[in-house]
Amino acid sequence: MEFSSQLLKLKEQALLRCADAFDEAQRISFITAARVLEAFQEERVRAGFLQGSTGYGYDDAGRDALDRVYARALEAEDALVRPHIISGTHALTIGLFALLRPGDTMLSVTGKPYDTLDTVIGIESGGDGSLMDFGIHYDQVDFLEGGKIDYDTIAQKVKNGVRMVYIQKSKGYQNRPTLSTLEIEKICKLAKSIDPDVYVMVDNCYGEFTEEHEPTYYGVDLMAGSLIKNPGGGIAKIGGYLAGKAWAVEKCAQRTTMPGVGRESGATLDTLIDFYQGFFLAPHVVLQAKKIAIFAAALFEIMGYPVNPLCDGFRGDIIQTVTCGTPVGLIAFCKGIQAGAPVDSYVTPEPWAMPGYTDPVIMAAGSFVGGASIELSADGPMREPYNVFFQGGLTFETGIIGILKAAEEMLKLKNC
Ligand SMILES: *Cc1c(COP(=O)(O)O)cnc(C)c1O
Repeated sequence: MEFSSQLLKLKEQALLRCADAFDEAQRISFITAARVLEAFQEERVRAGFLQGSTGYGYDDAGRDALDRVYARALEAEDALVRPHIISGTHALTIGLFALLRPGDTMLSVTGKPYDTLDTVIGIESGGDGSLMDFGIHYDQVDFLEGGKIDYDTIAQKVKNGVRMVYIQKSKGYQNRPTLSTLEIEKICKLAKSIDPDVYVMVDNCYGEFTEEHEPTYYGVDLMAGSLIKNPGGGIAKIGGYLAGKAWAVEKCAQRTTMPGVGRESGATLDTLIDFYQGFFLAPHVVLQAKKIAIFAAALFEIMGYPVNPLCDGFRGDIIQTVTCGTPVGLIAFCKGIQAGAPVDSYVTPEPWAMPGYTDPVIMAAGSFVGGASIELSADGPMREPYNVFFQGGLTFETGIIGILKAAEEMLKLKNC
């Protein structure tokens, strides 16, 4: 791997800026890793738990223990971790349909939820068994100017009667701040002080292990996420989880399989060893992803690009934004990330018209697990100001190489 002396100088400069942010990320990962390890020990995880079951999957002690390991580590009353949950969106869908009933209102208090939920809620199409199809209403509170949470409007709407307050922690692919768990606690307390019966649900995708505690520690009823993101540690090949209050997780279990069967059935095949090992690694892998994002923020800032968050800014998820400014800049960035991947490094990413998106999108990913964004990956819509959102990286070393490859492509543009 040869990089120009110009780039290597920038790398050293960038690394100098990262020391404090690296220390802070490491401090958090010590706490979260210890909590995960303790959960394994408290639940007396043993080799037999890693085997998995077939057929109906009755009496799968490894599956049941993994649920308890997750619950402990996430400081929740209960959790449900399954290979039958095919994605983060599916986990969220299970949670929404488990908790909401006809006539209820779901109130999203962090603006429009992640794009893949449009058809679930029924904002867009409807007719396919969406929440709207079942007579469940949707309402939304947008962020105020400057990305502030609109507590007054949230209070007003809860007073008028809603069944669920829905919070998306991560900014996802939007230009809005990522919520801290303390902000989530504040929303939760506010809503429940007005209506003790209101449910609070959190989309925790990309949030796991980025802070000392998870939203479940602060009293939310339910949260959900994907195992091909943070909690799968890069090892899980499929899966999702739900965690929260025991009554809420029980409703999710009934919805995941069949009413009356719930969590008693569902064979795990050969997934459990990956789920255990991935969860064990997850705090460390999240640390890798955070350090790569911190380094990239420092490097691209030095190179003159707006970045969000800043190198030493708050990180409540693993997403880093770099404003490339031009279409060629965005394409160059993604080309570099792709060239730094272990799989498919030789292909050239190109913008394409992705279903459901107004502008063409460019994506770079060369991952072991299909679409896993805990592995180094980047995407950006081809529109002003040509922001690229990137996340992940299983190892610090290879992540830095990927970022340097991206920077190299960007420098080529600047130098010509
Ligand atoms: C990834 C993501 C989802 C959806 O997860 P999939 O696994 O892609 O279905 C939902 N919300 C947020 C914030 C995400 O980042």
